[in-house]
Amino acid sequence: MSTDRPNILFIMSDDHASHAMSCYGSRINETPNLDRIAKEGMRFDNCFCTNSICGPSRATIFTGTYNHINGMTTLATKMDGRQITFPKLLQKAGYQTAMIGKWHLGHGGIHDPTGFDYWNVLPGQGLYHNPKMIEMGNEKVYEGYVTDIITNLSLDWLKSCAKNRPFLLMYHHKAPHREWEPDEKHAQMYEDIDIPEPETFWDDYSNRASAAKEAKMRVDRDMNLKDLKVPTPEGLTPEGEKKWKYQRYIKDYLRCVASIDDNVGRVLDYLDREGLTENTIVIYTSDQGFFLGDHGWYDKRFMYEESLRMPFIIRYPKEIQPGSINDQMILNVDFAPTFLEYAGIDIPDSFQGASIRPVLNGDPPEDWQTSMYYRYWMHLAHHNVYAHYGVRTHRYKLIYYYADALAQEGAIDDSREPEWELFHLEKDPYEMNNIYNDPDYAEIITELKEELYRLQDRVEDERYKKDV
Ligand code: CA
Repeated sequence: MSTDRPNILFIMSDDHASHAMSCYGSRINETPNLDRIAKEGMRFDNCFCTNSICGPSRATIFTGTYNHINGMTTLATKMDGRQITFPKLLQKAGYQTAMIGKWHLGHGGIHDPTGFDYWNVLPGQGLYHNPKMIEMGNEKVYEGYVTDIITNLSLDWLKSCAKNRPFLLMYHHKAPHREWEPDEKHAQMYEDIDIPEPETFWDDYSNRASAAKEAKMRVDRDMNLKDLKVPTPEGLTPEGEKKWKYQRYIKDYLRCVASIDDNVGRVLDYLDREGLTENTIVIYTSDQGFFLGDHGWYDKRFMYEESLRMPFIIRYPKEIQPGSINDQMILNVDFAPTFLEYAGIDIPDSFQGASIRPVLNGDPPEDWQTSMYYRYWMHLAHHNVYAHYGVRTHRYKLIYYYADALAQEGAIDDSREPEWELFHLEKDPYEMNNIYNDPDYAEIITELKEELYRLQDRVEDERYKKDV
């Protein structure tokens, strides 16, 4: 075995939107340690998930397949660990492998992590404080704050690694997932300032399909006491109440992010001290994006930009130009083949994405993807979001709310009238104006539908009835 295969440090948080990272131009916070990865590596501005929800996005990352193939279409489904995953292949090829932190793909038997020499994961969502974890099948309670604990365990594992073999560490944070509980160190952060509200904070959901208006993820109406931690003051106007709730929400969210940033800094320092920086691929991403008051919402699920976009910064000094920015389209389904290529392992035919290594090296194949396919299956569950699929190109986004459970476990069987949305992403980057019924776009719509069905065929998914 060659000893120059790179180590892979895959850092993933849960629900961390790129617009809460300063390297992505955040208006609301600073993330100096995450920024180090971008500064010393590459920032991707068009990295997207294929289904904006926790478990399904993770299943795609592990298996390199879309959710209708890997079986994890909704949060009610579990990962079948007998599938081929990239950690299994790396382990077989001699990598030391570990999975530490948020797993969220089910537990017990075929649902436990596979392909890892060591694993220690939170059960389900896990707790922020004094979390129980499952270490190689055995439960144990850890005292302290979850982001620190996951980092400590990750550093301990890194220290235990043999120096003559490469490692894969999946270092997965629970934060900043709802209900956004900060640690003591950051509890007072932002106390004396107001965080700016997003441009679309006062969205009234007009000029859109009804799905947007029907969603139950509004900051002003749908947050509960657990989210806000204290009762809403009396005597506020409806406008004042919405503003107050946003500040409660976003400050706790950003405090959780600040702890991630500190802890990632500790791990980057460790790599520097141990002389591992040069030969380690470091990635920071999140399983999807999140609405940070955008459209008046929290949560994700929609194919809208804030939820669809994943942060993706990558550092590998041997190959990647420091401080570079890339606007090529990459997807979570592309991660697994990328790691295999770096490890010199053949990519199985069952994988549905492509290695991004040539894109990172500034030499993408001529036919590199310029469109992507998305599907959200959990019709009406949790936040009343309609099931939908769609296609995004660099310029347009076409969404079809087929609004039907299709007997999926974890979806609610109560269909709605299907609707379409079309957005011109250059003219309308916040997706406030559905132009599906504008006759000027009739030809574009025909082309986009052809592309949508082409992508569906390519990934072997099924179109909703054939009469749309
Ligand atoms: Ca998530």
